[in-house]
Amino acid sequence: MSEINYTIQQIAELLNIKSFEEKQPALINSLLIDSRIIISPENSLFFAIPALRDGHDFIAEAYAGGIRNFVISKAEYVKAFPDANFLLVPDVEKALQHIAAVHRSQFELEVIAITGSNGKTVVKEWLYQLLSADFNIVRSPKSFNSQLGVPLSVWQTNKEHTLGIFEAGISKTGEMQHLAPIIQPTIGILTNLREAHAEGFSSPKEKLQEKLKLFSGVKLFIYAPEYTGNIATEDLPGEKKFSWSTIQTTADLFILFVEPINGKSYIRAVYKDKEIECLIPFSDRASLENGITCWATLLALGYTPEQADFRLERLTAVNMRLELKNGINQCSVIDDSYSADISSLAIALDFLNLQNQHEIKTVILSDLLQTGKTDVELYKEIAALLKQKQIHRLIGIGPHITAFADLFEMQKTFYGSTEEFIQQFPGIPFNNETILVKGARRFEFERISKLLTQKVHGTVMEIDLNALASNLKFYKSKLKPGVKVMAMVKAFSYGSGSFEIANLLQYHKVDYLAVAYTDEGVALRKAGITLPIMVMSPEPFAFEAILKYKLEPELYNLDILKAFIDFLPAAENSYPVHIKIDTGMHRLGFEEPDLPGLLSLLTSTDKIKVVSAFSHLAASEDEDHDEFTKYQIRTYLHISGKLRAGLDYDFIHHISNTSAITRHPEAQLDMVRLGIGLYGFDGGMKNLSGLHTVAVLKTTITQIKTISPEDTVGYGRRGSLPAGGTIATVKIGYADGYRRAFGNGVGKMLVNGKPAPVIGTIAMDMCMLDVTGLDAKIGDEVIIFNNQLTISDLAEQISTIPYEILTNISQRVKRIYFYE
Ligand SMILES: *Cc1c(COP(=O)(O)O)cnc(C)c1O
Repeated sequence: MSEINYTIQQIAELLNIKSFEEKQPALINSLLIDSRIIISPENSLFFAIPALRDGHDFIAEAYAGGIRNFVISKAEYVKAFPDANFLLVPDVEKALQHIAAVHRSQFELEVIAITGSNGKTVVKEWLYQLLSADFNIVRSPKSFNSQLGVPLSVWQTNKEHTLGIFEAGISKTGEMQHLAPIIQPTIGILTNLREAHAEGFSSPKEKLQEKLKLFSGVKLFIYAPEYTGNIATEDLPGEKKFSWSTIQTTADLFILFVEPINGKSYIRAVYKDKEIECLIPFSDRASLENGITCWATLLALGYTPEQADFRLERLTAVNMRLELKNGINQCSVIDDSYSADISSLAIALDFLNLQNQHEIKTVILSDLLQTGKTDVELYKEIAALLKQKQIHRLIGIGPHITAFADLFEMQKTFYGSTEEFIQQFPGIPFNNETILVKGARRFEFERISKLLTQKVHGTVMEIDLNALASNLKFYKSKLKPGVKVMAMVKAFSYGSGSFEIANLLQYHKVDYLAVAYTDEGVALRKAGITLPIMVMSPEPFAFEAILKYKLEPELYNLDILKAFIDFLPAAENSYPVHIKIDTGMHRLGFEEPDLPGLLSLLTSTDKIKVVSAFSHLAASEDEDHDEFTKYQIRTYLHISGKLRAGLDYDFIHHISNTSAITRHPEAQLDMVRLGIGLYGFDGGMKNLSGLHTVAVLKTTITQIKTISPEDTVGYGRRGSLPAGGTIATVKIGYADGYRRAFGNGVGKMLVNGKPAPVIGTIAMDMCMLDVTGLDAKIGDEVIIFNNQLTISDLAEQISTIPYEILTNISQRVKRIYFYE
């Protein structure tokens, strides 16, 4: 066992810091960029990366977590923590990259680097599955492939490893030159190149050139000529090259054909002038391409076709995402039964800690395998981690974790095997808690998650929390310094969820939340949300709940203002309220003539305090109405100015919704109210590049039928296929929010990636699709909307707006949350 260890002094020297003053000796073995993932604080070095959440703002939190070693670029922190070691550098990110590169240089192992537009993570994980028998492998955790992810991945390398597999992802020119010296690959794999994500590069060719920079020194380069454009073979990197192709017969591995057999793919190819074959246990296009890339890699590494076939047939699916689902007995279940190493455990615990909806946090954990540590070290570390993350209850499964039961300081039970747990399951209490299910593949914990989660019906809406966070980041990047964000989470976060979304927004430090009704605010408070929450329609009967749950009402006319003041107990002081001003929407709000009455009420009492005054724009997305929008902004400034003048204190001024943030930057004022943009739409943007799809709605095929020309389909006999054909019944209807207007060919869904029109009328719980020629089977997944068939497309089909499509999806459709 060989730990990575550098003294803080050595690191200071590596970083060329002349004036380093050591406050206490330290031995560093772990690099952190996130104050939440602290495993052994005394041996950790925290890098204050000035990204979206400036790492410098988290120094205090990290210090409180026991960290005493920091790399920073803002000198003022040195004084604030006199006993901590601070390494002051001009660029923290570069420092992290430099340390990782120096670390990498000390090892002579083979290193496979993977880049390309898609499939990097799957190819990496599959090569890990395929090569684990022969190598002690260090690999990127999850999809750690960025400017920060790569150094953190490579840093894990130690003497015991015989192979590294790292992925590298870049989004613009100039980035690969930072990653190449950190990975120093000996073998390169280009998965593919797609036109998508071309932003950041002036042309596809430039993008390819940039990606290939990763491979300049490799001994072996594996690629498909389909993706290397017209670069001549001799100009490609690699002393040796290995190509696979479905078109070029001269490729080292020339694919003859692929035949689907029961969800698997049988592939034949020519290799060294002989026909060879393999079976890959997947049938979708992406898996097929990733599988062939792995096949080519095994052959290029010298495995025989028979060995390669034997291993490929045993590949298992890769799911790097954490899933949050509703569980039995009011539990929430986080399902992460794919990988079980200590860094992914830390990430999963973190996601667990982001959940505030239940007080009790439970972890069901298997033995961790192949960690390269001794059991004592490993379980000590895990026990410390669980304690630090304040886990209340541990259920350990497996002989190894059971042997170290004494190390865990919390409520705990242990089982020898998954089977044993399942047998005892009916007698094990689970109630109103958040449960993380995390086990090594071998333990088949998916069986446990199935017991713990409510049966998910055919139709589910998947919410990608990373996409939501990245949309937030996109809009934050458009804000002037200091402008606050109020996130609009009304109508169950535009249909996407409630506390699940609010927890994420709270974690990402938005300043305010806003809901439509008191109930929605109460539900968020009950789920542990502590951010200030504005309620836009505070009915008088709900005032009591508003006070009880510290919600902040929007007051929009004199009656409601007066009613609220009267309702407040005499002892109340400065209760926060928001004043709504009508500048032309003509929905709710005070107008200029109301000002004297408003001011006299406000100044006559100390019970309330105006924390903000705002107005709402009627058409900020539409340039045809820009004059009106500017008029609204002027009117707001005029009225709020008078309000300010009449009070002896200031308040937060705001008017912008999503589309105004980018289209009318002068109106950002003190705060913006971000709604639909969080969910990936913005009517004011010509194209949505920079925004990510948050919601995917999918269902499954329940039945397939063959129809003759004289048959009719569905209610009212509206559907027919003049030439006959095949139809599929799917489990979504108007009661799920798939509107009747989509009937009779207006709507389409994706079946096996291809559009299938709706045939006949939409029924309450079902509808039918024309799948003639689409090779559809019972149980196949059907996409109602995703990033290809978008909510905007659906909105266009029935002449409505994305807001309505999204919020219409009924609450009976299960939401599943993903987090990477
Ligand atoms: C819904 C709402 C918003 C958010 O609008 P988007 O266009 O979704 O960004 C902002 N302000 C008020 C008052 C709202 O009701």
